[in-house]
Amino acid sequence: MIKWNEKVQYIITDVDDTIVPIYHSISMEMVWSLEALLKRNIKIILISGQSVSNIVNRVTAHINPQFRKNIFIGHCNGAEIYEFGKQGLLIQEPLFSVLQYVSIDKTKLWLIMEDIRKNFNLQYVFTNNVHEFKRIAGNSKMFVMVEDRNVQISMDFVNGINNDGSLESDIRVEIVQYAKKLMDIHKIDVEPKLGGMCAIDFNIKGVDKGLAVRRLFSASNTKNEKLEKQIFLNSSQEVEIWGDSFSKLNGDSDFSMCSSLPNDVRTICFRRCQDYNSKYNIQLWDGSMELSDGLYEYLNSYTI
Ligand SMILES: [Mg+2]
Repeated sequence: MIKWNEKVQYIITDVDDTIVPIYHSISMEMVWSLEALLKRNIKIILISGQSVSNIVNRVTAHINPQFRKNIFIGHCNGAEIYEFGKQGLLIQEPLFSVLQYVSIDKTKLWLIMEDIRKNFNLQYVFTNNVHEFKRIAGNSKMFVMVEDRNVQISMDFVNGINNDGSLESDIRVEIVQYAKKLMDIHKIDVEPKLGGMCAIDFNIKGVDKGLAVRRLFSASNTKNEKLEKQIFLNSSQEVEIWGDSFSKLNGDSDFSMCSSLPNDVRTICFRRCQDYNSKYNIQLWDGSMELSDGLYEYLNSYTI
């Protein structure tokens, strides 16, 4: 099995289906495993399509406050980066926000969202709570969970993305194509993209998970731009990437995290797939489990 990287100082990781099953909170076993790393001053950078409050509730709130200073959260696919203060409380002002450079015309965007809803005969349920969603929607695939995360609007297909269980009939692909045309017609700088295995994220153009990586890590030791806390890497082995979405077929939202760093940085993919980009050092987890169970298997090889 892939061996633990003894030199790692920074871990950049996706959240859903990498450290937690989608819509679930982190397990205590995973908390203890991550705390063992944080205790050793290894920094963990969580990058997710979810909102910061969702990641706090499902992940970081379960981690001992004294270790949270070693955690960063890049929410909404890296549109903003948050950090924790000395007491382990989230600092409300983001360390980086894409809104420092651009703004979104929300009125126009919601008109487009309404057009999409009518065209695809969808019902929007405005919540971020899956139980609440299920109470309203039951198992109907017409219903989608929609949340305005300020820097991104997300559409979650909680009840599935197709009618027959096949990836070929992923309705999201058609919606994304339709939405892209509308964004062009209305000249709005928002890019709809597949998020994980069951979402569409409407991001500000240019935002991807790699943006958070590029903001935090510098290729040279000159501290540039406005972010003072840029991290300079002495070697590619000091950083490692974990994710589950590197497949071009199923959406590759985690790929931009590795394409934003030197291509010898090790990336471990915890979802079995074939069509990942071989120019990068992407390694498929080779244990007996996959997704967050696979990561837990890998973390067990870290001996304190
Ligand atoms: Mg994922």
